Amino acid sequence: MTSSAGNGRAGSDEFAMARDRMIRVLRDEFDVSDERVLGVMASVPRHLFVPEALKFQAYRNNALPISGKQTISQPLIVARMTELLDLEKKHKVLEIGTGSGYQTAILAKLGGKIYSIERVLDLAETAKKRLAGLNNVTIKCSDGTNGWDAYSPFDRILVTAGAPVPPEPLVAQLSNGGKIVIPVGDEKERQNLIRITKTPEGVVRETFGACSFVPLIGDHGWEA
Ligand code: SAM
Repeated sequence: MTSSAGNGRAGSDEFAMARDRMIRVLRDEFDVSDERVLGVMASVPRHLFVPEALKFQAYRNNALPISGKQTISQPLIVARMTELLDLEKKHKVLEIGTGSGYQTAILAKLGGKIYSIERVLDLAETAKKRLAGLNNVTIKCSDGTNGWDAYSPFDRILVTAGAPVPPEPLVAQLSNGGKIVIPVGDEKERQNLIRITKTPEGVVRETFGACSFVPLIGDHGWEA
């Protein structure tokens, strides 16, 4: 499981039909239109990122529990956030909230270098092992609301937990023309999906509808 999770050799396993169905649902029922994103999601074996007891639910369009009272995000939200990032192979990407590592694997196949931060040690360690086959992913256990200054600036930043406001260090560590996709809301588990683009004139903020994520906890997020 360890290396194949990251290597994306998902074509002919016992879940191939379920995975194809998930992709059809995303395309036909939810209007996910970026075929690059759908193609990558068709190649990543989501059942290897969920607890063994839940693997038969892995290709339903649901978030599922993982350890540390956290969740692996719903496939639709993974697809939408990835579409909004508009990734290119030249991009250096910071992800906050590695979780299971599923979204990280998707980013790694579309972007250039991926730096991912998870605050729950057990999740960070498990994701590191799962994604050991991907040589463009670096994961650390820390408070991601402070960003990762040593590797900044980033072309893209993805936050996969809900913030009260966009953390200032993340905006500061974004390159000119860079984009952050982040759920933001004044309630701990209800947010709107926001995209922030940094321009020479300031930041441009766009909103893409309601969503519900576990809280972003840290210095520039919610209190634990
Ligand atoms: N994208 C992940 C996946 O595919 O499995 C799901 C992420 S889950 C919805 C959100 C994650 O953000 C949780 O694992 C949580 O521990 C993490 N998190 C919350 N606050 C954080 C912080 N300040 N820094 C890093 N990770 C954080």
